[in-house]
Amino acid sequence: MEFFRLVPNDSVKKGAYFTHEDNTIHLDMRYGTWDGSPLCSMHEFGHWFDWHVRQRNNRKKKLISSINEFKEVADKDWERLSNSLEQNVLLARFGHGGRAWSGSYCLKATRFLFNKDVRELTMNEQYIITALIDIIQSITQGNYGWGHAIDDISGDSSCQEAFAEGFLLFATKNKKFRLDFPNMWEYFKNIKKKLTEHRKILNQGYYHGN
Ligand SMILES: [Zn+2]
Repeated sequence: MEFFRLVPNDSVKKGAYFTHEDNTIHLDMRYGTWDGSPLCSMHEFGHWFDWHVRQRNNRKKKLISSINEFKEVADKDWERLSNSLEQNVLLARFGHGGRAWSGSYCLKATRFLFNKDVRELTMNEQYIITALIDIIQSITQGNYGWGHAIDDISGDSSCQEAFAEGFLLFATKNKKFRLDFPNMWEYFKNIKKKLTEHRKILNQGYYHGN
């Protein structure tokens, strides 16, 4: 079976995205661009991974995780995080594509991770900060944070962006993610453990000729 295919963006739909219909990840093939950066491909790979461990249920097989399990974890983290932030400086509340780099969470996360001002961030550093803000947008259904269009974060798409960004930040061992989203961190750690166990079983089967 094909793992997945990386294909260049076509002129019909711009941007980077994963589509499960044909198991492809579409990227801008120009390495130095936002939609062609390694961090972007990791985000899209997160969507691929999400599809196979949590969302795909057309054969009614038990998957490694479930939609509800991740949502519960995300809610727990948001409850904890929102209580720990000062209410008046929480985050700029732009839920519909507006961006606010001046939001206090952006400034604090930037200082904590890179010891810089937001205006000095490189593209990859911006991507990391955006990933954190995108998680918040996704798990609060757009009440806080920013990053995606409203259709990408509501209904069936609820928490999908949080999963993809969480995958990216876990895989890159991001300290701020671990600190602010400890339950999500544990969730990804458990999935990794389960996959390692699966691999051991598969390997045993292979070596015994089953
Ligand atoms: Zn995404």
